[in-house]
Amino acid sequence: MQEIDIYGKLSAIYPHDVILSDVSMKDYTTMKVGGIADFMVLADSVENIQKSVSLLYSLNVPYIIMGNGSNLVFSDQGYHGVIIKIGSGFSKTEVKEDIITAEAGASLTSVANLAMENSLSGLEFAYGIPGTIGGAAYMNAGAYGGEMKQVIIETLCIDKEGQYITLRGEEHNFSYRHSRIQNDELVCLKVKLKLNKADKEGIKAKMCELSAKRREKQPLSFPSAGSIFKRPPDSFAGKLIDECGLRGYRIGGAQISDKHCGFIINTGNATASDVLALIKHVQETVYNNFGKSLELEVKIIGG
Ligand SMILES: Cc1cc2nc3c(=O)[nH]c(=O)nc-3n(C[C@H](O)[C@H](O)[C@H](O)COP(=O)(O)OP(=O)(O)OC[C@H]3O[C@@H](n4cnc5c(N)ncnc54)[C@H](O)[C@@H]3O)c2cc1C
Repeated sequence: MQEIDIYGKLSAIYPHDVILSDVSMKDYTTMKVGGIADFMVLADSVENIQKSVSLLYSLNVPYIIMGNGSNLVFSDQGYHGVIIKIGSGFSKTEVKEDIITAEAGASLTSVANLAMENSLSGLEFAYGIPGTIGGAAYMNAGAYGGEMKQVIIETLCIDKEGQYITLRGEEHNFSYRHSRIQNDELVCLKVKLKLNKADKEGIKAKMCELSAKRREKQPLSFPSAGSIFKRPPDSFAGKLIDECGLRGYRIGGAQISDKHCGFIINTGNATASDVLALIKHVQETVYNNFGKSLELEVKIIGG
């Protein structure tokens, strides 16, 4: 890729201070591993996201959409292309009766808090999931019996060519950690949630309870990308991994968490290669012991 050209093209859309070059993905992902990305733009409007997607697509320049990087592992080789980061610069929210509309970069936890402040129930499960609402719609994020599918009524998206698409209700084709946004490689720009009026103190108490559960069960003091594997049919990835004797198993700086075997943690100096080697080892061991294939929940970029 001709660096100067890409920078020049992006400069027509974004101010210089939000076009970053040679970006260490360690600093932008919760797993804190990965090499250097050629460019990152910090998107802050529907227009600049739409323009950059259609530009990069038409130029055949690789790009990836990123929210908070809490479900992503970049390889040590980095990324030769442009990361379009949709984060705090694009995170406005609006509450109208029992509907919350949020720009894709709003953090899930802040939207859950906003819902609580407005006595709206339905997002308690999402409190503590460290992603953006756009990433959560893409992943159909869920926890403790709740999932985004239950609350999203509409999303504004764009396709690769920059065409706007509004998805409503069942058109999202949500399933376990999957959505049409993922399937059709759309970019989610805005999310509309329908919640239910309820007692604020009750909502708050539920959020506190689930947050305490997270702290008790998950290794939150170490960098990670949450659950590495999807839940296999009729079982739990963490249980299978534990039963293979892999609790605490380590390759380089990457380790199966002692606290929750479904998490791989970065003990401090892990590389993406350590994480990927550990993933492969776990998948092979679980398959050899139980004949079950563990499918990845995290998205691996490169490698
Ligand atoms: C400690 C910890 C706990 C976690 N607990 C949970 C949990 O309980 N439940 C759960 O479901 N997940 C959990 N996760 C995983 C993660 O937080 C979710 O998958 C979250 O929804 C990812 O959002 P993100 O903004 O970080 O997305 P990213 O990691 O930035 O991206 C994930 C994927 O979504 C795509 N994407 C992101 N934003 C957009 C957008 N606006 N439009 C189109 N595509 C987009 C990216 O291209 C990528 O493929 C946890 C992670 C951690 C680190």
